[in-house]
Amino acid sequence: MSTPNRKRHRTVPVKIAHVVVGGDAPVAVQSMTNTDTADSKATARQVARLAEAGSELVRITVNNAEAASQVADIRKRLDSMGIDTPLVGDFHFNGYKLLTDFPECAAALAKYRINPGNVGRGQRGDDQFAGMIEIARKYNKPVRIGVNWGSLDQEMLGRLMDENARLPEPKQPTEVMHEALIRSALESAARAEQLGLGHDRIILSCKMSGVQDLISIYRELASRCDYPLHLGLTEAGMGSKGIVASTAALAILLQEGIGDTIRISLTPEPGGSRTQEVTVAQEILQSLELRAFTPMVVACPGCGRTTSTFFQQLAGEIQQHIRQQMPVWRQRYPGVEKMTVAVMGCVVNGPGESKHADIGISLPGTGETPVAPVYVNGEKTVTLKGDSIAREFQQMVDDYVETHYGNKP
Ligand code: SF4
Repeated sequence: MSTPNRKRHRTVPVKIAHVVVGGDAPVAVQSMTNTDTADSKATARQVARLAEAGSELVRITVNNAEAASQVADIRKRLDSMGIDTPLVGDFHFNGYKLLTDFPECAAALAKYRINPGNVGRGQRGDDQFAGMIEIARKYNKPVRIGVNWGSLDQEMLGRLMDENARLPEPKQPTEVMHEALIRSALESAARAEQLGLGHDRIILSCKMSGVQDLISIYRELASRCDYPLHLGLTEAGMGSKGIVASTAALAILLQEGIGDTIRISLTPEPGGSRTQEVTVAQEILQSLELRAFTPMVVACPGCGRTTSTFFQQLAGEIQQHIRQQMPVWRQRYPGVEKMTVAVMGCVVNGPGESKHADIGISLPGTGETPVAPVYVNGEKTVTLKGDSIAREFQQMVDDYVETHYGNKP
Protein backbone atom coordinates (compact mmCIF):
# COMPACT_ATOMS: atom_id res chain seq x y z
CA MET A 1 0.00 0.00 0.00
CA SER A 2 1.47 3.35 -0.99
CA THR A 3 1.48 6.26 1.42
CA PRO A 4 -1.21 8.70 0.36
CA ASN A 5 -0.20 12.28 -0.28
CA ARG A 6 -2.32 13.53 2.56
CA LYS A 7 -1.47 15.94 5.33
CA ARG A 8 -3.72 15.25 8.26
CA HIS A 9 -5.51 18.07 10.01
CA ARG A 10 -4.00 18.15 13.50
CA THR A 11 -6.36 17.22 16.29
CA VAL A 12 -6.02 16.46 19.98
CA PRO A 13 -6.39 12.70 20.67
CA VAL A 14 -9.44 11.71 22.71
CA LYS A 15 -9.61 8.37 24.54
CA ILE A 16 -12.94 6.55 24.40
CA ALA A 17 -12.36 3.61 26.73
CA HIS A 18 -9.46 1.81 24.93
CA VAL A 19 -10.09 3.43 21.52
CA VAL A 20 -8.22 6.61 20.59
CA VAL A 21 -9.85 9.04 18.17
CA GLY A 22 -7.86 11.92 16.71
CA GLY A 23 -4.16 12.77 16.91
CA ASP A 24 -2.13 10.16 15.04
CA ALA A 25 -4.69 7.39 15.56
CA PRO A 26 -6.11 5.79 12.42
CA VAL A 27 -9.52 7.06 11.32
CA ALA A 28 -11.99 5.03 13.41
CA VAL A 29 -15.07 3.28 12.03
CA GLN A 30 -18.34 3.77 13.90
CA SER A 31 -21.85 2.43 13.45
CA MET A 32 -25.20 2.68 15.16
CA THR A 33 -27.77 0.07 16.12
CA ASN A 34 -31.39 0.21 14.97
CA THR A 35 -32.78 -2.11 17.61
CA ASP A 36 -34.91 -0.98 20.54
CA THR A 37 -32.30 -0.40 23.25
CA ALA A 38 -34.83 -1.57 25.84
CA ASP A 39 -34.45 -5.02 24.23
CA SER A 40 -31.01 -5.68 25.65
CA LYS A 41 -30.66 -9.12 24.11
CA ALA A 42 -31.39 -7.96 20.54
CA THR A 43 -29.28 -4.82 20.97
CA ALA A 44 -26.28 -6.73 22.36
CA ARG A 45 -26.60 -9.18 19.48
CA GLN A 46 -26.58 -6.39 16.91
CA VAL A 47 -23.68 -4.59 18.59
CA ALA A 48 -21.77 -7.88 18.49
CA ARG A 49 -22.46 -8.26 14.76
CA LEU A 50 -21.36 -4.69 14.07
CA ALA A 51 -18.21 -5.18 16.17
CA GLU A 52 -17.37 -8.45 14.42
CA ALA A 53 -17.80 -6.66 11.08
CA GLY A 54 -15.18 -4.15 12.27
CA SER A 55 -17.04 -1.32 13.96
CA GLU A 56 -14.65 0.16 16.53
CA LEU A 57 -17.32 2.18 18.34
CA VAL A 58 -21.05 1.47 18.38
CA ARG A 59 -23.70 4.06 19.22
CA ILE A 60 -27.01 3.10 20.75
CA THR A 61 -29.99 5.35 21.25
CA VAL A 62 -30.86 6.10 24.88
CA ASN A 63 -34.22 7.73 24.45
CA ASN A 64 -36.26 6.74 27.51
CA ALA A 65 -36.10 5.13 30.94
CA GLU A 66 -36.67 1.62 29.53
CA ALA A 67 -33.65 2.04 27.25
CA ALA A 68 -31.45 3.63 29.92
CA SER A 69 -32.27 0.84 32.37
CA GLN A 70 -30.88 -1.78 29.96
CA VAL A 71 -27.58 -0.16 28.96
CA ALA A 72 -25.54 -1.77 31.74
CA ASP A 73 -27.06 -5.16 30.87
CA ILE A 74 -26.08 -4.68 27.20
CA ARG A 75 -22.52 -3.92 28.31
CA LYS A 76 -22.50 -7.01 30.52
CA ARG A 77 -23.77 -9.24 27.74
CA LEU A 78 -21.08 -7.94 25.37
CA ASP A 79 -18.34 -8.42 27.96
CA SER A 80 -19.47 -12.01 28.48
CA MET A 81 -19.13 -12.55 24.69
CA GLY A 82 -15.59 -11.15 24.84
CA ILE A 83 -16.58 -8.00 22.93
CA ASP A 84 -14.99 -4.85 24.34
CA THR A 85 -16.21 -2.39 21.70
CA PRO A 86 -17.05 0.89 23.47
CA LEU A 87 -20.72 1.87 23.55
CA VAL A 88 -21.73 5.45 22.85
CA GLY A 89 -25.06 6.73 24.19
CA ASP A 90 -27.12 8.96 21.92
CA PHE A 91 -29.07 11.45 24.04
CA HIS A 92 -31.57 14.15 23.23
CA PHE A 93 -34.13 16.15 25.27
CA ASN A 94 -34.12 13.94 28.36
CA GLY A 95 -30.42 13.01 28.45
CA TYR A 96 -29.68 14.75 31.74
CA LYS A 97 -32.60 13.08 33.51
CA LEU A 98 -31.75 9.63 32.16
CA LEU A 99 -28.07 9.88 33.08
CA THR A 100 -29.05 11.11 36.56
CA ASP A 101 -31.76 8.50 37.15
CA PHE A 102 -29.65 5.61 35.81
CA PRO A 103 -26.10 6.00 37.12
CA GLU A 104 -25.22 2.46 35.96
CA CYS A 105 -26.08 3.59 32.42
CA ALA A 106 -23.83 6.65 32.81
CA ALA A 107 -21.02 4.39 33.99
CA ALA A 108 -21.46 1.68 31.33
CA LEU A 109 -21.32 4.05 28.37
CA ALA A 110 -17.89 5.05 27.05
CA LYS A 111 -19.02 8.35 25.53
CA TYR A 112 -22.11 10.55 25.49
CA ARG A 113 -23.40 12.17 22.33
CA ILE A 114 -25.05 15.50 23.07
CA ASN A 115 -26.94 17.48 20.44
CA PRO A 116 -26.97 21.11 21.68
CA GLY A 117 -30.02 21.83 19.51
CA ASN A 118 -31.97 19.09 21.25
CA VAL A 119 -31.35 19.67 24.95
CA GLY A 120 -34.04 22.33 25.31
CA ARG A 121 -34.29 26.06 24.79
CA GLY A 122 -33.09 29.04 26.84
CA GLN A 123 -32.16 28.59 30.50
CA ARG A 124 -33.60 25.08 30.62
CA GLY A 125 -31.40 24.02 27.68
CA ASP A 126 -28.34 25.61 29.32
CA ASP A 127 -29.05 23.78 32.57
CA GLN A 128 -29.54 20.45 30.81
CA PHE A 129 -26.32 20.87 28.86
CA ALA A 130 -24.43 21.83 32.02
CA GLY A 131 -25.92 18.84 33.85
CA MET A 132 -24.77 16.40 31.17
CA ILE A 133 -21.28 17.87 31.16
CA GLU A 134 -21.20 17.57 34.96
CA ILE A 135 -22.06 13.86 34.66
CA ALA A 136 -19.43 13.38 31.95
CA ARG A 137 -16.87 14.90 34.32
CA LYS A 138 -18.04 12.78 37.23
CA TYR A 139 -17.69 9.53 35.26
CA ASN A 140 -14.66 10.75 33.30
CA LYS A 141 -16.34 10.24 29.92
CA PRO A 142 -15.69 12.11 26.69
CA VAL A 143 -18.60 13.67 24.81
CA ARG A 144 -19.39 14.23 21.18
CA ILE A 145 -21.07 17.54 20.63
CA GLY A 146 -23.07 16.62 17.57
CA VAL A 147 -24.85 19.42 15.79
CA ASN A 148 -27.35 18.47 13.15
CA TRP A 149 -28.96 20.66 10.50
CA GLY A 150 -32.37 19.23 11.33
CA SER A 151 -32.14 20.36 14.96
CA LEU A 152 -30.08 23.53 14.66
CA ASP A 153 -30.48 26.03 17.49
CA GLN A 154 -33.11 28.30 15.90
CA GLU A 155 -32.39 31.20 18.28
CA MET A 156 -28.79 31.33 17.13
CA LEU A 157 -29.80 31.03 13.48
CA GLY A 158 -32.29 33.89 13.89
CA ARG A 159 -29.67 36.06 15.58
CA LEU A 160 -27.10 35.42 12.85
CA MET A 161 -29.67 36.06 10.11
CA ASP A 162 -30.51 39.43 11.73
CA GLU A 163 -26.81 40.34 12.04
CA ASN A 164 -26.29 39.34 8.41
CA ALA A 165 -29.20 41.48 7.23
CA ARG A 166 -27.53 44.54 8.81
CA LEU A 167 -24.24 44.01 6.95
CA PRO A 168 -23.50 46.36 4.03
CA GLU A 169 -23.07 43.24 1.85
CA PRO A 170 -25.12 40.43 3.38
CA LYS A 171 -23.93 36.84 2.82
CA GLN A 172 -26.00 34.13 1.17
CA PRO A 173 -28.49 32.47 3.59
CA THR A 174 -26.66 29.13 3.11
CA GLU A 175 -23.42 30.67 4.36
CA VAL A 176 -25.22 32.05 7.42
CA MET A 177 -26.76 28.66 8.11
CA HIS A 178 -23.32 27.00 7.87
CA GLU A 179 -21.91 29.58 10.26
CA ALA A 180 -24.76 28.92 12.70
CA LEU A 181 -23.97 25.20 12.73
CA ILE A 182 -20.26 25.76 13.21
CA ARG A 183 -20.79 28.31 15.96
CA SER A 184 -23.27 26.08 17.72
CA ALA A 185 -20.65 23.33 17.85
CA LEU A 186 -17.72 25.57 18.81
CA GLU A 187 -19.63 27.61 21.40
CA SER A 188 -21.02 24.45 22.99
CA ALA A 189 -17.51 23.01 23.16
CA ALA A 190 -16.19 26.22 24.71
CA ARG A 191 -19.00 26.15 27.26
CA ALA A 192 -18.25 22.49 28.10
CA GLU A 193 -14.65 23.48 28.77
CA GLN A 194 -15.76 26.43 30.93
CA LEU A 195 -17.80 23.90 32.90
CA GLY A 196 -14.63 21.93 33.55
CA LEU A 197 -14.59 19.27 30.82
CA GLY A 198 -11.09 18.70 29.45
CA HIS A 199 -10.18 19.91 25.98
CA ASP A 200 -9.16 16.31 25.25
CA ARG A 201 -12.62 15.00 26.18
CA ILE A 202 -14.51 16.62 23.27
CA ILE A 203 -15.24 15.44 19.73
CA LEU A 204 -17.30 17.55 17.31
CA SER A 205 -19.62 16.81 14.43
CA CYS A 206 -21.82 18.98 12.19
CA LYS A 207 -23.82 16.56 10.11
CA MET A 208 -25.67 17.59 6.98
CA SER A 209 -27.58 15.70 4.32
CA GLY A 210 -26.12 17.64 1.37
CA VAL A 211 -22.69 16.66 0.07
CA GLN A 212 -21.51 20.19 -0.77
CA ASP A 213 -22.84 21.56 2.53
CA LEU A 214 -21.00 18.89 4.49
CA ILE A 215 -17.69 19.48 2.70
CA SER A 216 -17.89 23.22 3.12
CA ILE A 217 -18.82 23.06 6.82
CA TYR A 218 -16.12 20.56 7.77
CA ARG A 219 -13.41 22.48 5.93
CA GLU A 220 -14.35 25.56 7.93
CA LEU A 221 -14.72 23.66 11.20
CA ALA A 222 -11.30 22.02 10.77
CA SER A 223 -9.70 25.42 10.18
CA ARG A 224 -11.15 26.78 13.42
CA CYS A 225 -10.46 24.07 16.01
CA ASP A 226 -8.29 21.10 16.92
CA TYR A 227 -11.05 18.89 18.35
CA PRO A 228 -11.27 15.51 16.59
CA LEU A 229 -14.05 15.51 14.01
CA HIS A 230 -16.64 12.82 13.45
CA LEU A 231 -17.70 12.70 9.79
CA GLY A 232 -20.93 11.45 8.35
CA LEU A 233 -23.55 12.44 5.86
CA THR A 234 -26.83 12.30 7.72
CA GLU A 235 -29.87 10.70 6.07
CA ALA A 236 -27.61 9.48 3.27
CA GLY A 237 -30.35 7.18 2.01
CA MET A 238 -30.78 3.69 0.73
CA GLY A 239 -28.73 1.49 -1.60
CA SER A 240 -26.29 2.95 -4.09
CA LYS A 241 -27.56 6.51 -3.53
CA GLY A 242 -26.57 6.44 0.13
CA ILE A 243 -23.23 4.80 -0.57
CA VAL A 244 -22.31 7.14 -3.42
CA ALA A 245 -23.35 10.32 -1.60
CA SER A 246 -21.47 9.34 1.56
CA THR A 247 -18.39 8.31 -0.39
CA ALA A 248 -18.40 11.49 -2.47
CA ALA A 249 -18.49 13.68 0.64
CA LEU A 250 -16.21 11.73 2.93
CA ALA A 251 -13.56 10.92 0.32
CA ILE A 252 -12.93 14.59 -0.39
CA LEU A 253 -12.65 15.50 3.29
CA LEU A 254 -10.54 12.47 4.21
CA GLN A 255 -8.20 13.17 1.30
CA GLU A 256 -7.75 16.69 2.70
CA GLY A 257 -6.83 15.18 6.06
CA ILE A 258 -10.14 16.08 7.71
CA GLY A 259 -11.96 13.50 9.82
CA ASP A 260 -10.91 11.30 12.73
CA THR A 261 -13.87 8.94 12.87
CA ILE A 262 -16.58 8.14 10.34
CA ARG A 263 -20.02 6.63 10.14
CA ILE A 264 -21.99 5.81 6.99
CA SER A 265 -25.68 6.39 7.73
CA LEU A 266 -27.30 3.95 5.33
CA THR A 267 -30.94 3.01 5.41
CA PRO A 268 -30.82 -0.80 5.18
CA GLU A 269 -32.77 -2.42 2.34
CA PRO A 270 -35.64 -4.54 3.66
CA GLY A 271 -33.98 -7.65 5.09
CA GLY A 272 -30.54 -6.12 4.49
CA SER A 273 -27.78 -6.31 7.06
CA ARG A 274 -26.98 -3.42 9.37
CA THR A 275 -23.31 -4.32 9.01
CA GLN A 276 -23.29 -2.92 5.47
CA GLU A 277 -22.57 0.52 6.90
CA VAL A 278 -19.40 -0.85 8.51
CA THR A 279 -18.28 -2.55 5.29
CA VAL A 280 -18.81 0.64 3.29
CA ALA A 281 -16.89 2.73 5.86
CA GLN A 282 -13.99 0.28 5.71
CA GLU A 283 -14.05 0.21 1.91
CA ILE A 284 -13.90 4.01 1.74
CA LEU A 285 -10.87 4.09 4.05
CA GLN A 286 -9.19 1.20 2.24
CA SER A 287 -9.85 2.63 -1.23
CA LEU A 288 -8.22 5.88 -0.11
CA GLU A 289 -5.30 3.78 1.20
CA LEU A 290 -5.75 5.21 4.68
CA ARG A 291 -6.30 1.84 6.33
CA ALA A 292 -6.35 -1.82 5.34
CA PHE A 293 -9.08 -4.11 6.67
CA THR A 294 -9.43 -6.97 4.27
CA PRO A 295 -7.60 -8.26 1.16
CA MET A 296 -8.66 -6.42 -1.99
CA VAL A 297 -10.19 -8.42 -4.80
CA VAL A 298 -9.57 -6.69 -8.11
CA ALA A 299 -12.00 -7.86 -10.78
CA CYS A 300 -12.38 -6.60 -14.32
CA PRO A 301 -15.83 -5.33 -15.32
CA GLY A 302 -16.14 -7.86 -18.14
CA CYS A 303 -16.77 -6.95 -21.76
CA GLY A 304 -17.58 -8.49 -25.14
CA ARG A 305 -14.61 -10.82 -24.77
CA THR A 306 -16.41 -12.75 -22.04
CA THR A 307 -19.46 -14.80 -22.87
CA SER A 308 -20.15 -16.29 -19.47
CA THR A 309 -20.57 -14.86 -16.01
CA PHE A 310 -18.09 -17.40 -14.67
CA PHE A 311 -15.43 -14.84 -13.80
CA GLN A 312 -18.00 -12.62 -12.05
CA GLN A 313 -19.09 -15.61 -9.99
CA LEU A 314 -15.50 -16.49 -9.18
CA ALA A 315 -14.69 -12.92 -8.16
CA GLY A 316 -17.80 -12.88 -5.96
CA GLU A 317 -16.97 -16.25 -4.40
CA ILE A 318 -13.38 -15.26 -3.68
CA GLN A 319 -14.55 -11.97 -2.14
CA GLN A 320 -17.06 -13.81 0.03
CA HIS A 321 -14.56 -16.49 1.01
CA ILE A 322 -12.05 -13.84 2.11
CA ARG A 323 -14.66 -11.94 4.14
CA GLN A 324 -15.74 -15.16 5.86
CA GLN A 325 -12.16 -16.11 6.68
CA MET A 326 -11.08 -12.67 7.89
CA PRO A 327 -12.09 -13.02 11.56
CA VAL A 328 -9.69 -16.01 11.78
CA TRP A 329 -7.11 -14.75 9.29
CA ARG A 330 -6.85 -11.40 11.09
CA GLN A 331 -5.64 -13.21 14.23
CA ARG A 332 -3.57 -15.89 12.56
CA TYR A 333 -2.03 -14.08 9.59
CA PRO A 334 -0.92 -10.54 10.47
CA GLY A 335 -0.65 -8.33 7.38
CA VAL A 336 -3.06 -10.43 5.30
CA GLU A 337 -5.39 -7.42 4.99
CA LYS A 338 -2.87 -5.88 2.59
CA MET A 339 -3.00 -8.81 0.14
CA THR A 340 -4.46 -8.21 -3.35
CA VAL A 341 -6.18 -10.86 -5.47
CA ALA A 342 -7.03 -10.30 -9.14
CA VAL A 343 -9.77 -12.13 -11.02
CA MET A 344 -9.75 -11.14 -14.70
CA GLY A 345 -12.07 -12.13 -17.49
CA CYS A 346 -9.71 -12.93 -20.38
CA VAL A 347 -6.15 -13.95 -21.11
CA VAL A 348 -5.53 -11.02 -23.46
CA ASN A 349 -5.64 -8.15 -21.00
CA GLY A 350 -6.03 -10.08 -17.73
CA PRO A 351 -2.42 -11.14 -17.15
CA GLY A 352 -1.22 -7.54 -16.80
CA GLU A 353 -3.49 -6.90 -13.81
CA SER A 354 -2.90 -10.40 -12.44
CA LYS A 355 0.84 -9.76 -12.37
CA HIS A 356 0.36 -6.64 -10.26
CA ALA A 357 -1.66 -8.51 -7.66
CA ASP A 358 -0.14 -10.83 -5.05
CA ILE A 359 -2.09 -13.65 -6.66
CA GLY A 360 -4.20 -13.38 -9.79
CA ILE A 361 -6.03 -15.48 -12.33
CA SER A 362 -7.05 -14.75 -15.92
CA LEU A 363 -10.03 -16.77 -17.02
CA PRO A 364 -10.60 -17.75 -20.64
CA GLY A 365 -12.60 -15.29 -22.73
CA THR A 366 -14.64 -15.90 -25.88
CA GLY A 367 -12.79 -18.07 -28.40
CA GLU A 368 -9.81 -18.49 -26.07
CA THR A 369 -8.38 -21.87 -25.06
CA PRO A 370 -10.24 -22.95 -21.89
CA VAL A 371 -7.25 -22.52 -19.60
CA ALA A 372 -6.63 -20.06 -16.77
CA PRO A 373 -3.07 -18.94 -16.01
CA VAL A 374 -2.37 -18.07 -12.38
CA TYR A 375 0.24 -15.50 -11.37
CA VAL A 376 1.84 -15.45 -7.94
CA ASN A 377 3.97 -12.43 -7.01
CA GLY A 378 4.05 -11.43 -10.67
CA GLU A 379 5.23 -14.81 -11.99
CA LYS A 380 3.11 -17.31 -13.91
CA THR A 381 3.03 -20.46 -11.81
CA VAL A 382 0.37 -22.85 -13.08
CA THR A 383 -2.38 -23.00 -15.69
CA LEU A 384 -5.68 -24.32 -14.38
CA LYS A 385 -8.11 -26.20 -16.64
CA GLY A 386 -11.39 -28.06 -16.50
CA ASP A 387 -14.37 -27.79 -14.17
CA SER A 388 -12.46 -27.28 -10.94
CA ILE A 389 -10.75 -23.95 -11.74
CA ALA A 390 -12.71 -22.09 -9.05
CA ARG A 391 -11.99 -24.65 -6.30
CA GLU A 392 -8.31 -24.93 -7.19
CA PHE A 393 -7.83 -21.17 -7.32
CA GLN A 394 -9.51 -20.73 -3.94
CA GLN A 395 -7.13 -23.35 -2.53
CA MET A 396 -4.19 -21.46 -4.04
CA VAL A 397 -5.37 -18.27 -2.33
CA ASP A 398 -5.55 -20.13 1.01
CA ASP A 399 -2.07 -21.57 0.46
CA TYR A 400 -0.72 -18.14 -0.44
CA VAL A 401 -2.08 -16.73 2.82
CA GLU A 402 -0.54 -19.58 4.83
CA THR A 403 2.88 -19.37 3.23
CA HIS A 404 3.16 -15.58 3.09
CA TYR A 405 1.50 -14.48 6.31
CA GLY A 406 1.61 -17.53 8.59
CA ASN A 407 4.08 -18.32 11.38
CA LYS A 408 6.13 -15.19 11.00
CA PRO A 409 8.74 -14.77 13.69
S1 SF4 B 1 -9.71 -8.08 -18.75
FE1 SF4 B 1 -10.47 -8.95 -20.68
S2 SF4 B 1 -12.60 -9.56 -20.22
FE2 SF4 B 1 -11.98 -8.16 -18.58
S3 SF4 B 1 -12.69 -6.17 -19.33
FE3 SF4 B 1 -10.55 -6.36 -19.93
S4 SF4 B 1 -10.62 -7.16 -22.03
FE4 SF4 B 1 -12.66 -7.50 -21.11
